Amino acid sequence: MDRQQEFVLRTIEDRDVRFVRLWFTDVVGTLKSVALAPAEVEAAFDEGLGFDGSSIEGLSRVYESDMLLQPDPSTFQLLPWRGDDEPTSRMFCDLKTPDGEPSASDPRGVLRRVLTKAADMGFTCYTAPEIEFYLLRSSELDAKTGEPTPVDYEGYFDHVPGGVVQDFRRTAVNMLEAVGISVEFSHHEAGPGQNEIDLRYADALQTADNIMTFRTIIKEVALSQGIYATFMPKPFSRQPGSGMHTHFSLFEGDTNAFYEAGAEFRLSKVGRHFIAGLLRHAPEFTSVTNQFVNSYKRLWAGDEAPSYMSWGHNNRSALVRVPLYKPDKVQSSRIEYRGIDSATNPYLSYAALLGAGLKGIENEYELPPVEMDDVFAMSSAERRAVGHQPLPTSLHEAIRQTEDSEFMAELLGEQVFDYFLRNKRRDWDNYRVEVSPYELRTNLGIL
Ligand code: GLU
Ligand code: MG
Ligand code: MG
Repeated sequence: MDRQQEFVLRTIEDRDVRFVRLWFTDVVGTLKSVALAPAEVEAAFDEGLGFDGSSIEGLSRVYESDMLLQPDPSTFQLLPWRGDDEPTSRMFCDLKTPDGEPSASDPRGVLRRVLTKAADMGFTCYTAPEIEFYLLRSSELDAKTGEPTPVDYEGYFDHVPGGVVQDFRRTAVNMLEAVGISVEFSHHEAGPGQNEIDLRYADALQTADNIMTFRTIIKEVALSQGIYATFMPKPFSRQPGSGMHTHFSLFEGDTNAFYEAGAEFRLSKVGRHFIAGLLRHAPEFTSVTNQFVNSYKRLWAGDEAPSYMSWGHNNRSALVRVPLYKPDKVQSSRIEYRGIDSATNPYLSYAALLGAGLKGIENEYELPPVEMDDVFAMSSAERRAVGHQPLPTSLHEAIRQTEDSEFMAELLGEQVFDYFLRNKRRDWDNYRVEVSPYELRTNLGIL
């Protein structure tokens, strides 16, 4: 029993905790939870908690379905929305096989592997997500428009006096802080009912855990206020989608490895290679960062979501950006990836993005020239001339690129690679045989 485990057991007793939820995710990033009686926690620390993995998307094959949940005591947290009556807590878990080895199908394990590789190269990885989502009156569609109904019709940074979103954001931010998730900013985004909450940077594994907790809290707070929150990438055809831009930084000890005084954008060689890695491998990992049919409606509708592979500084059309809000603040030097959306599995996405960046560093990939212009405004000939390739235009194309990618096969490991692609192909196959409102609207009246 280590000290963290002892601390958890003591807190459970001191606070009279009634339920300990064990959390983990499937390949798609759906949160799974099993409630444990407090008396069972010690045994779960010692031996793990057995469960049938074959019933969970992408976890194991039927004939090798016994798996163990190994609670990570550093993630122990009381859940404030359950109130004080019957205190409830949670821990994230790593998945293990019955012989105690890390399970090859655990998304959290995939990210752990990449972080171990980063550590071997001397880096600690920090990430900070800007999470966008829509607040709707409910999950029902309006009978007339066929679209959901947003809670307001305000826009970017609008202050809505007395509006629901103010109250929503205050409650949500307080609750996030109560579970140890630091919030840097929160504001109304450009779409009606669209909001954004930016988390303070943390170690990449902790950030991925935080994102899972964040989604749960946002959904819970919305329900408690009689509204509905969605992280769907593009709920409205003619409004911006919900991205989850993520800022990355690598540290070697106390030194920010992306910073170099005097260099263009204060960007070090390591930073340049990291961006080159992101750009080179983006088509291969887009099925992970943008994993739904709907994700591609966001990527290809403009509205500040990137469609082409370029990098820039003050350029909202670029896939990768080097923000310079405070150019001389060495520690805040970072790289922003803008492609990823709010419905991704954060473990797999962060593994892919960091893995691509590290590969760029390892192999000293050459960075193409910076793009200062609006990539959307260029003609396709201009884009071709400067080498801005498009991101995949559909889930189908993204799956194809991942299937052919040695980088992704190695990164995810055979099992996750296989399960993930199988799940995505099923999604695409279901979609492609469905007749859409668009076809009915444009064809039925005239054909
Ligand atoms: N909503 C935009 C997206 O889908 C991002 C807008 C912004 O720059 O914050 O990526
Ligand atoms: Mg935003
Ligand atoms: Mg951003």
